[in-house]
Amino acid sequence: MDEDTKSTKKPQFPAHPLLCSLKPPSVGALFMDPKPPSPTPHVLIFPCPAQGHVNSMLKLTELLLTGGLHITFFISAKDHHRLTRYTTAHSHFNTNPGFRFHVIHGLYEGPMDTGEKLTIILDSLSKVTTPLLRNMLLDSPVACLIADGILGFTLDAAEGTGVPVFFFRTISACAFWAYFCIPDLITSGDLPFHGTDLDKQIVGVKGMEGFLRLRDLPSFCRSDVNDEMLQRIASITRRTQDSHALILNTFDELEGPILSEIRKYCPNIYTIGPLHAHLKSRSTSKSTSSNNLFEEDKTCIGWLDQQAPKSVLYVSFGSITTITREQLIEFWHGLVNSGKRFLWVIREDLLLDHGDDNKVPSELKDVTRERGYIVGWAPQEDVLAHPAVGGFLTHNGWNSTLESIVEGVPMVSWPFFADQQTNSRYVDVVWKLGLDMKDTCDRTIIVRMIKEVMDVKNEEFTKSTHRMAKLAKECVSKDGSSYSNLDRLIEDIKTMNVRSPL
Ligand code: UDP
Repeated sequence: MDEDTKSTKKPQFPAHPLLCSLKPPSVGALFMDPKPPSPTPHVLIFPCPAQGHVNSMLKLTELLLTGGLHITFFISAKDHHRLTRYTTAHSHFNTNPGFRFHVIHGLYEGPMDTGEKLTIILDSLSKVTTPLLRNMLLDSPVACLIADGILGFTLDAAEGTGVPVFFFRTISACAFWAYFCIPDLITSGDLPFHGTDLDKQIVGVKGMEGFLRLRDLPSFCRSDVNDEMLQRIASITRRTQDSHALILNTFDELEGPILSEIRKYCPNIYTIGPLHAHLKSRSTSKSTSSNNLFEEDKTCIGWLDQQAPKSVLYVSFGSITTITREQLIEFWHGLVNSGKRFLWVIREDLLLDHGDDNKVPSELKDVTRERGYIVGWAPQEDVLAHPAVGGFLTHNGWNSTLESIVEGVPMVSWPFFADQQTNSRYVDVVWKLGLDMKDTCDRTIIVRMIKEVMDVKNEEFTKSTHRMAKLAKECVSKDGSSYSNLDRLIEDIKTMNVRSPL
């Protein structure tokens, strides 16, 4: 496949060679385009190369395309290859003449399930793309850059170019706010964390007094205060104040009080989520694409079709989480002992130690054949929308959390890292959409929580999950809060002064 993944249709915006590919421009290309700039605003979108980030920023892209903007989407070679292989994203996006992928080579491509590995990917991104990005911003009539808010170096790359940088954070407002408050927690002495009492109450995060414990802070807060990832995420989050505006995949009715706190520091916020529901609400196209970087096993939908309404627990820990074999067995016992039917996503790289499969007791495998179904990757949005699904055992990645909220599915939360620790606390005590099981992996607790969510307290949970699902759907319908905010974002981009290339 050609790296410049444009369709055969001629783009309607000026094509700086760097916007097309990293290949050196041909002589023809250098002399090709003396036309005046197109009046259609051209936006660069730059996600961190990870499933949850690429997924939500592609959804943002589609929404901006429906508003008539032109988009160049930065994507790592690895993610581009996976999207092309496992989805129809390529043909789906390329039907729009105002869209192109810009493929980035030479990045670190290993796993990112720890803070250390995340710092490696961030360093690699900064090194490879800063000069490239700067040249683009200087040489092309770009209306604005919408960068993943954890890519702080994009602000440096844009410095002095006159191109506004919007930060898009793929996390919840509550997790963003917890990150934002880290410097204050260090000043107040709440961090670094000494001792073993993870239940200690934290009062330094405004709006979360009374229910936030140390264990609910983003996982990086459990490290030494000099830990590189902790320092980096805290300072990048503070740098949001230097960006033009902040775009969040959330909605006012879900996170209003915390959004008010954030607005005191970052007044220009666009809350336009849940993006996947927003896209469905606006889309007029019959063509859709999953944006998945893993191969979906759609046979699980056929299996769900045979199950009774609300009888199945869906189990998935997203794209990054890793677990030990011991934890796998504990979950497996919990699922089997709960007596529930279950659909379980076991990614090929979920397990940290690829030991002997014979260690899985045969009775677990037998029961799984009777009442369970295991896939390597599921079409999750369709699964959560399926009438047979009555509960979700989740790591509370933000996309998964929003997808569950929109479908009104109650959750049992087992956060793995980063923002997920804060999300799961909100799911439990603030939104009352499920139970937080963080920091334990014990079969008896797993059984108890599954039964509470799907049986014992199901009526209670159904009330709150249905209420929130209704609010989520309303906010992305015409005149809803997220709907109006997206209109405002598109209008604001359209009225931006695009300066001529320097
Ligand atoms: N997902 C999926 N199938 C799976 C597991 C996950 O389609 O089997 C999707 C899910 O719908 C979500 C994304 O992958 O949109 C995971 O993002 P999230 O923010 O929940 O977690 P992360 O992978 O970043 O930890």
